[in-house]
Amino acid sequence: MRIEIIPCLQDNYSYLIIDDTNNFACVIDPSESEPIINFLENKNIKLKYILNTHHHYDHIGGNQELKKKYGSVVVGFKGDSKRIPGIDILLKDNQIWKAENFEAKIMHIPGHTSGHICYHFFKEKIVFTGDTLFSLGCGRIFEGTYKEMFESLKIIKSLPEETKIYCGHEYTLNNSKFCIKYDPENQSLKKKIENLKKKIVAGLPTIPSTIKEELDCNIFLRTQDLETFSKLRDLKDNF
Ligand code: ZN
Ligand code: FE
Repeated sequence: MRIEIIPCLQDNYSYLIIDDTNNFACVIDPSESEPIINFLENKNIKLKYILNTHHHYDHIGGNQELKKKYGSVVVGFKGDSKRIPGIDILLKDNQIWKAENFEAKIMHIPGHTSGHICYHFFKEKIVFTGDTLFSLGCGRIFEGTYKEMFESLKIIKSLPEETKIYCGHEYTLNNSKFCIKYDPENQSLKKKIENLKKKIVAGLPTIPSTIKEELDCNIFLRTQDLETFSKLRDLKDNF
């Protein structure tokens, strides 16, 4: 499996997972259809599945058009069946979704929205975290509680350390400023900031990160108690 990062809208990332053995692909969170279509054009790749992490417009905006154009099947969380456009396959917490050679464990991780899920492609050691875990940050709490978000991050934290993280937005640089402000002596964080600045200067995505890097550097994962986590989340909202 090969991952292609497709920048969308202002700072969103959609991702294509391409199976080189048969040229079948899944797209994760198509914010809009055009960049996906542009990428697929003149390539012999069949967009079989559209996987959504949550219902926000910047994650589902391309669903209908891609579905119409390629006959793709839309996959999302059961609890969001009313608000994910074109949904065909309803997923449950902890289920394994398997289709063609694609296989992912679904984890319900509420907090940002009540129906947010992540897709853990365990064979490839890759997780798509949408707007729940970002590199050096976490999503805003729109529909859930601090506790739900804290618990959801714990679930992601428990994945193998070498797991690669593909998240919904390029927020890493801004997030890093917050982390270093409240964690100024963190040497791993300093190193990560140096690296990500180089990527940004070169016009490259700072994604993927890894569970290990986030455990070492992301203040929202380093926080051990709910109270501190909640305080940090509030501070970040006004940062
Ligand atoms: Zn969102
Ligand atoms: Fe988003």
